[in-house]
Amino acid sequence: MQVADWRTNPVANPQSAICNPQSRTVASKPYFPVARDLPDTPIRRVVDSFLNLIYPDQCFICSAPVTRRSDCGVCDGCWRNALRLRIAPPRCPSCGLPFQNFEEHSEYLCGKCILEAPPYSGARSFGHYAAELRRVIQELKFHDRRNLVGLMAPLLAGVFFENWGREDFDIVAPVPLHPKRSRERGFNQSELLARSLSRQIALPWVRALVRTRPTLPQVGLSDARRRDNVRNAFRCTAPEAVYGRRVLLIDDVMTTGATVSSAALALLDGGAIRVSVLTVARTTIFD
Ligand SMILES: [Zn+2]
Ligand SMILES: [Zn+2]
Repeated sequence: MQVADWRTNPVANPQSAICNPQSRTVASKPYFPVARDLPDTPIRRVVDSFLNLIYPDQCFICSAPVTRRSDCGVCDGCWRNALRLRIAPPRCPSCGLPFQNFEEHSEYLCGKCILEAPPYSGARSFGHYAAELRRVIQELKFHDRRNLVGLMAPLLAGVFFENWGREDFDIVAPVPLHPKRSRERGFNQSELLARSLSRQIALPWVRALVRTRPTLPQVGLSDARRRDNVRNAFRCTAPEAVYGRRVLLIDDVMTTGATVSSAALALLDGGAIRVSVLTVARTTIFD
């Protein structure tokens, strides 16, 4: 198992920054914002105060007044709580499932990965899909608050540089929605995240997959039903962009891993030589 491969990053390997001049333009170490990662200028404060007089805004989680437009409708307290849900090691080196009661830097695989190795070469997520972090993701998806992508993409970039380096990948690809759901929602949150992340880590993003049939929502299904639900649900539509490439697959939430496994298989069928997975959150207590 190539554990060391997944953890290669420019911090551990300073040579990579020298070999690739482009990497000097992007962050080269794990960076997790502790509060907002947004610029705040005096002019913006004046404009925001004026707008708040006309359209007072409230936090969509706790209803506290939100004073800045750039806060995207979530107050500082709730955002800090969302950041506290970050997944810390030790975790399964393959699927990223956090372990409890294991010594740090454990290299043990989780039971599920021992039984069946996933098709992807490693999956990582920023945080637990719970409480404030779940509310933020749901607000993006179901209430069309697309500017929340600006808050979440830096979290993905932090996890990316903590586990990998840009020399480990060629392209970034989002998990697609079925065209019908995409039409209903008007956007694909995974694509917005992938586009924003691709700018931050200076790698191109590609719309490489299509969902060939609608699938039931994964929530509430058993493990076996989830696998059946998404089996052969994806097809690679851009083999010329994927062939011989190392792909970073992006999604908003990972549940049992059935969806990302199915999408990873489609990319491998399309000729990708390796697929790794990065999501904002993952369920850590299976229901
Ligand atoms: Zn709040
Ligand atoms: Zn695992």
